[in-house]
Amino acid sequence: MEEYEIAVVGGGPAGMMAAIAASQNSSSVVLLEKNQSLGRKLLMTGGGRCNITNSKPIKKLLDSYSQKNFLKHSFYTLTNEKLLSLFEDKGLSFIEEDENRIFPETEKSSDVLKILLEYLEDVNVKYNFEVTSISEDFVINNEIKADKIIIATGGMTYPQTGCNIKNYSLTSQPLTDIKYGLVPLITKKDLSQIAGITLYDVVISYNKYKVIGNVLFSHVGLTGPGIINLSNIISENMTYNLLEDDNPEMNIEIAIDLCPDFSRENLLEKFTIDSQKKGKTLLKNYLKLFLTNSFIDFFLDDIDLDGQTQLSRINKKSKNRLIENLKRFTFEITDFNKDLSKVTIGGVDLADVNPKTMQSAIVPNLYFAGEVLDLHGPTGGYNLKIAFSTGYLAGLSAGEK
Ligand SMILES: Cc1cc2nc3c(=O)[nH]c(=O)nc-3n(C[C@H](O)[C@H](O)[C@H](O)COP(=O)(O)OP(=O)(O)OC[C@H]3O[C@@H](n4cnc5c(N)ncnc54)[C@H](O)[C@@H]3O)c2cc1C
Repeated sequence: MEEYEIAVVGGGPAGMMAAIAASQNSSSVVLLEKNQSLGRKLLMTGGGRCNITNSKPIKKLLDSYSQKNFLKHSFYTLTNEKLLSLFEDKGLSFIEEDENRIFPETEKSSDVLKILLEYLEDVNVKYNFEVTSISEDFVINNEIKADKIIIATGGMTYPQTGCNIKNYSLTSQPLTDIKYGLVPLITKKDLSQIAGITLYDVVISYNKYKVIGNVLFSHVGLTGPGIINLSNIISENMTYNLLEDDNPEMNIEIAIDLCPDFSRENLLEKFTIDSQKKGKTLLKNYLKLFLTNSFIDFFLDDIDLDGQTQLSRINKKSKNRLIENLKRFTFEITDFNKDLSKVTIGGVDLADVNPKTMQSAIVPNLYFAGEVLDLHGPTGGYNLKIAFSTGYLAGLSAGEK
């Protein structure tokens, strides 16, 4: 039987970073990966461009996570500066895009992976090694024995990258409910006519929750950063657990404020004045003041108003309907677009993991890193940030003599 000081299970960003950090203090580290290559999901991130982190100042960054207290120590241990310098030291620079999103200058996630692989040169990596059992005395698949084990098997979405819901059973820890996160929404309305159109900086609401962001229409529903961030709130508020039921029932309504800069009263006032001043203007042309041009026909059709009507001829009832829908354009949501869920909500319960070391409070010498933990963030570099920081801290702690 092969023996190691530290075995890391899963070669995604969290596991790779854990192995790199562990190998700073230990020459006996093995990284076990089920696929024939490392970082399959990492390669897909940011549409292949890898939105590696988010450059908000650390306090604000932490405020973006519901689990900020748990994340604090790992974020201060591997700060953004330190994370990026690991890559800059090997010649990769970074650029910042809107919303503080950081990408490699080459815009290739493969360049990020390449450097991680360079750092892993001294680590024994076993490919095509799917961990199926870990015994109480830390024997893995009856083949490898380790003093310490770091589990970094990721979540359950995009199974083609190596993730699998059955991995949670390896953790031997209490788990919170496992749910879809950062996931597009399927609508009852047929949106194929407007697929590809984006609404910028609208306010999207679900019950008492509001998110500001872009909405992109797809053939089957709604996506874009605003929607997928809202999907986390929707999913968190639903009662279901994918470990028990993979088809949660869904029937909710969300509303989009298409004119967030105007109140209903402002709109009514403006509309009344403009009906007098430019009464001959056709409604469909007038709406260009408020809406993306290519969205107007769909919008008017949906609320049953004729775009060819002159402003001065619109009756009170229609005017009210128009204003109500500009402020609250609703969509019935029938399902998550599950195959496109980017992160898993839920995982190893943080109550049983020490945030200063990532070590289990139940099983000594067992550590966790990345998405397998009950950690997730919004879209915009926040999830790789979790993977790298918790991976680094887990590796560093496990490597300590
Ligand atoms: C399409 C897409 C785009 C994304 N874009 C971004 C982005 O731009 N920015 C961002 O911050 N986040 C992004 N994310 C989220 C981010 O990719 C994940 O949060 C991150 O990869 C999690 O890292 P991880 O190491 O915990 O898990 P993973 O990356 O899932 O890695 C887990 C690894 O463990 C291996 N494994 C699993 N089970 C076993 C086993 N039993 N034995 C051995 N090996 C095993 C898997 O094969 C895999 O290699 C994106 C996600 C998706 C799906």
